[in-house]
Amino acid sequence: MNNAIIQFPTPQNEPVKAYLAGSPERAALDAELERQYNTVLDIPIIIGGKEIRTGDTGKVVCPHEHGHVLATFHKAGEKEVRMAIDAAMEAHRTWSRTPWTTRAAIVLKCAELLATKYRPIMNAACMLGQSKNIYQAEIDSACETIDFFRYNVHYASKIYGMQPKDGAGNINHTEFRPLEGFILAVTPFNFTSIASNLCMTPVLMGNVALWKPSTTATLSNYYLMQLYKEAGLPDGVINFLPGSGALIGEIATSSKWFSGIHFTGSTATFNSLWKQAGEKLGSYVGYPRIVGETGGKDFIFVHPSADVKAVATAAFCGAFEFQGQKCSAASRMYIPKSLWGPVLDIMKKYASEVKIGDVRDASNFINAVIDEASWDKCNSYISYAEQSPDARIVLGGGRDKSKGYFVEPTVIETTDPHFKSMEEEIFGPVLTVYPYDDDKVAETVKLCDETSPYGLTGAVFGRDRMAVEKISEDLRYAAGNFYINDKPTGAVVGLQPFGGARASGTDDKAGGEFNLIRWVIPRVIKETLVSPTDYRYSYMK
Ligand code: NAD
Repeated sequence: MNNAIIQFPTPQNEPVKAYLAGSPERAALDAELERQYNTVLDIPIIIGGKEIRTGDTGKVVCPHEHGHVLATFHKAGEKEVRMAIDAAMEAHRTWSRTPWTTRAAIVLKCAELLATKYRPIMNAACMLGQSKNIYQAEIDSACETIDFFRYNVHYASKIYGMQPKDGAGNINHTEFRPLEGFILAVTPFNFTSIASNLCMTPVLMGNVALWKPSTTATLSNYYLMQLYKEAGLPDGVINFLPGSGALIGEIATSSKWFSGIHFTGSTATFNSLWKQAGEKLGSYVGYPRIVGETGGKDFIFVHPSADVKAVATAAFCGAFEFQGQKCSAASRMYIPKSLWGPVLDIMKKYASEVKIGDVRDASNFINAVIDEASWDKCNSYISYAEQSPDARIVLGGGRDKSKGYFVEPTVIETTDPHFKSMEEEIFGPVLTVYPYDDDKVAETVKLCDETSPYGLTGAVFGRDRMAVEKISEDLRYAAGNFYINDKPTGAVVGLQPFGGARASGTDDKAGGEFNLIRWVIPRVIKETLVSPTDYRYSYMK
């Protein structure tokens, strides 16, 4: 048995490559885009390392060209979910007892492979399947995914090193046991890095998983499975189950060995999974760990002392990058009336410069929203605003789904701080702005705090630092990730661990050590060196 005490120091964040025309990374990416665009993959279910094809299939298309099929995928039914539970529990026997440094070595190999050979593969799949431009794919399916791998190994080494003191005549230590059953990882379409992290964090801590990928991210998620296999992850540790979330969730939560959910997606889906688990409480081997990051209605609050150009840039990038489909995307803004005109002028200028279209044309800043349901949702909110006396469209508003699911960067201005799109999550490139009287800062901060049930991200802009401090304090529970003079998106692993409370989730902070602790059940062992042999207290003798 290797007896080295191995420590993994804080890693560096993976540098974001520039992809300038003519660069080696650009050439590799372009070649891979060409290959994947001209291939139709047949994506199997993967259980215990075996590929299974049920013949019940769905299609993966390019959101920006929905007539173009990238892959068909096979859907898991009840039988496959039960097989996956058996395969996971079989893998649990060895994986949960594998030295953690061996598990860490596999995870670190994932990082190395992704930083090199798999970088163009993952970025191309994410661009084509999830409609991200080069930069948005690079920061997600390459850099953030790599950072999760490396930082989590570092955090794991810190956790395993957290040991109690020895007492008089006894030795104490904590064994961080993996959970006794399997984890159900249910992942969203919008970040490949989150899809990877929801499985790999529990797995690093010695757990096994059933993975329900998002239908619209099946392509990149399938390539992740290939990456894990090449890095040496044993069969059955992660079982890949595309298919109906409702079905997979129902069967997985019915198993005695269901030990936890690691979820990111909408609040409604998380609530339904939590309820399913709650109803069956008592039938499980232990209390399941329920960890979820869910919806948001992320805000920018502008103080009258704010810098106009900084606000306009943050609002534009924070609301419209990746078509507003980041959970952290700005979707409501409170701004003093005196600043709104100049800020809107700058946003209009930016909008006149950006292009919308296919991800393979690098000059496009905006691509498509993920699918028809998402487009329809954006359309319904924009139509509602067009017809409302309390609102008007002051930027964009164009939308067209004939070839791809395109929605222009759109700004709705409203006189009603409780306007529908000030309160409800849209998850598209639609920002609603409420201009307020400059002397009503305190009242408007209260509105911002109380308007939405969510508490994910928020930003405050202002040059008056004391005023900013007061606003930050008053919005203490309005966001789990709070930004001062910066857009509310772009959290970086290790620097700004991410997550929110209220209706936005359990705030277990992906990208920090708190999350890892949810995937272990500690056992504390006391060893007495010389056991007592007399029951009497000393004064009784
Ligand atoms: P979604 O809830 O529609 O889907 C998430 C996953 O749940 C998918 O894999 C889906 O197939 C599955 N699912 C759907 N219905 C299910 C059911 N009844 N039972 C079990 N599983 C089911 O969310 P989405 O559209 O993929 O992602 C967008 C949402 O995710 C937004 O609300 C966004 O705010 C949120 N999000 C939050 C964070 C965060 O960190 N808080 C990060 C990313 C995305």
